[in-house]
Amino acid sequence: MQSETDLPDGSELSGVRSDQRQNPTGPYLTAPEDLGSLLPGEPSFRTDQLREWLYEHPVLDPEEMTNLPVRVRNALGPNHWPFAVEVEQSSDRGRTRKWLFRAPDGAAIEAVLMGYRRRTTLCISSQAGCAMKCSFCATGQFGFERHLAPGEIAAQVAFAAASLRDRPMDDSPTRVSNVVFMGMGEPLANYASVREALRRLIDVMGISARSITVSTVGVVPGIDRLAEEPWSVSLALSLHAADDHLRETLVPLNARYPIDELLASARRFTAGKGRRVTLEWTLMKGLNDTPEQARALAAIAREVRAHVNVIPMNPTPLAPQQRPSDLQIRRFVDEVKRHGANVTLRDTRGTEIDAACGQLRVRSATPPEDDPAGNSGQHRNRTADNR
Ligand code: SF4
Repeated sequence: MQSETDLPDGSELSGVRSDQRQNPTGPYLTAPEDLGSLLPGEPSFRTDQLREWLYEHPVLDPEEMTNLPVRVRNALGPNHWPFAVEVEQSSDRGRTRKWLFRAPDGAAIEAVLMGYRRRTTLCISSQAGCAMKCSFCATGQFGFERHLAPGEIAAQVAFAAASLRDRPMDDSPTRVSNVVFMGMGEPLANYASVREALRRLIDVMGISARSITVSTVGVVPGIDRLAEEPWSVSLALSLHAADDHLRETLVPLNARYPIDELLASARRFTAGKGRRVTLEWTLMKGLNDTPEQARALAAIAREVRAHVNVIPMNPTPLAPQQRPSDLQIRRFVDEVKRHGANVTLRDTRGTEIDAACGQLRVRSATPPEDDPAGNSGQHRNRTADNR
């Protein structure tokens, strides 16, 4: 049996419920095609049944895998998830649900589930921490821990699906209909794992590729690789600024892949996939909320035929950047629209539960030593549904 990560055996974390112990060699860390290696001596239809419970009809507890004999369920260990639930929070009258998961090696993983009338969108993490150091992002301030394995990424979706099955949200679909890679980490910096996770979500779980959005701050080679993949997933570019000077202060990666290169890769993606990209714009008071930025953003959107999502900065005492006033937000969106771009103003779900990814982790961790004031930033505001 091959495990995707080197996780310490029997690690235990304070605050983790004892019935939620992680299984470091559990089934999600094994490729769906290799699950038979976990069930030596069992007929192959048992492997098929297990695969269905993991990916098609996920359940929170192995005890719910009712057509598997007890000996098979026991072989999975006390918990079949590759992480423990450290925190679960709910807001928006139960229509936003957020988890902080903890892997056996201590890595933090965040996911946010948002229920809408016609869809249920899950925002997932692709890395524990992030190396990109975006100045407005809590995760970026804490630095990089490690890449997540494909199974740790896919298991976030399976866990949310199992949670929905257990406790549906009012007036929302009872399955995870949309997945956005907008949680912790830069997905295209963990390409191999994200690719394999996409394969499992699309080919094994049956989620439509078009309902999955990969979001990047601009890893150009990753965008080009994604354009070559067989799946027509959606691409979101976290632009946040319309000139290189401002963008470099917000997204340091811009020094390596400036806006021109980023837009060229967006055009190649659109040409290859026949799909419009989305430009994400976290609106920050006094920084990128000016009429000049609005006009330059509209020009870029027209040029690459992209849709713009404006997401007001989620307010948090931890971030130096602030949310503009409602009037300023309205003016900015109107100016973008007036200059010919398709633009949508997105809501920021779950502000009372630290729903911007990275914030639960910030609260659960000691601030970095070089940041004694705990002045951590904020993630990409990726709580807004970008569909
Ligand atoms: S905004 Fe995204 S890419 Fe930038 S530091 Fe945060 S997690 Fe990383």
